[in-house]
Amino acid sequence: MNVLEHVSLKEKTTLHVGGTARYFIATEDVEGAVRFAKGKDLSVWVLGGGSNIVLPDSEINVVAIQVLEKGNKILEETHDSVIIEVGAGESLDTFIQHTVQKGYWGLENLSLIPGTVAGLAVQNVGAYGIEASSYIESVCVFNIKKEKFETIKNNKCCFGYRTSIFNTSKKGSYIIYSITLKLSKIPKPMLEYRSIKNFKENPTQQEIRNKIIEIRRGKDLDPEKIWSVGSFFKNVEVSSLENHTLSDTVKNSVFAIEGGYKIPSAALIDDLSMKGLCVGDACISDRQANMIINKGNATAIDIQKLFKKVQRKILLETGIELCNEPEFL
Ligand SMILES: Cc1cc2nc3c(=O)[nH]c(=O)nc-3n(C[C@H](O)[C@H](O)[C@H](O)COP(=O)(O)OP(=O)(O)OC[C@H]3O[C@@H](n4cnc5c(N)ncnc54)[C@H](O)[C@@H]3O)c2cc1C
Repeated sequence: MNVLEHVSLKEKTTLHVGGTARYFIATEDVEGAVRFAKGKDLSVWVLGGGSNIVLPDSEINVVAIQVLEKGNKILEETHDSVIIEVGAGESLDTFIQHTVQKGYWGLENLSLIPGTVAGLAVQNVGAYGIEASSYIESVCVFNIKKEKFETIKNNKCCFGYRTSIFNTSKKGSYIIYSITLKLSKIPKPMLEYRSIKNFKENPTQQEIRNKIIEIRRGKDLDPEKIWSVGSFFKNVEVSSLENHTLSDTVKNSVFAIEGGYKIPSAALIDDLSMKGLCVGDACISDRQANMIINKGNATAIDIQKLFKKVQRKILLETGIELCNEPEFL
């Protein structure tokens, strides 16, 4: 096990913001890494692809562990479906590309989302009308306190909109080691979401993936080109629209969900003309109003100030409190 000290984390994140970790271990041996942290009397913190976190500018006094477990194996296969286990450290998009090549349907709408497979479960990744929780059978974790591997079934993960036990009630308790998914061998295009609604008759899985990639690249969502964490502000779920002051433009972008409505955070921010607003090099994207992008030298403080500025203005004008999608460490 290779233990590194005072390792810069900035370039390990898609936002390119952050200081150093006291210790950094990239390993498949999560048990050994946890034992090392306990020996040093330090907390364990897990880094995936760094695409959903805002790290502080100073050193974090933890043992940062990056799980290297990669690859996948089929556990069960029928005429209709496969049950496939994939390592937590695998790149999510590499895995999705593999499922598309094999004709295993389910995750193609999540194409080009950065990060690792672990991220799928942590925040119940979703895009273009689907959520990871519909495909996750179970999550294999290493329980940090008990120092043993456990399997957590889907119904115990408490998946919600960008939430699970892994980023709420059990945050910091587990290291996700692998995820088991059930994917369909029968074509199941999911084309209900507005921007891909029936874009083509009977598209292949590869055509859906290509379409999603094309849309995302046009929306500042290519991490190779733009430094961000994707959506910074969560969309807002409300049971009624009556208690909020919403313009007609925002009202037109609201959509009905079970038990209420979803208000796109981008519509709220755009409506108050905050696209392009900056604090230092941290700016609201000109193309995608719910994104904060780092134009070069943004610090965690800049990001936080900009987030609060937008949050305060929206609260004042509409009565809605926007929440952050990435974690502030
Ligand atoms: C350009 C761009 C577009 C994006 N688009 C979307 C989108 O459409 N939909 C969406 O849902 N998300 C999107 N995201 C957010 C992000 O890509 C996902 O949330 C991703 O799943 C995060 O995975 P990660 O490996 O990068 O996690 P990290 O950012 O490294 O970590 C996020 C959290 O997960 C924890 N974690 C990571 N690995 C483990 C592990 N093995 N065990 C336990 N905890 C762990 C970390 O401690 C941290 O709390 C986007 C991000 C970017 C930059």
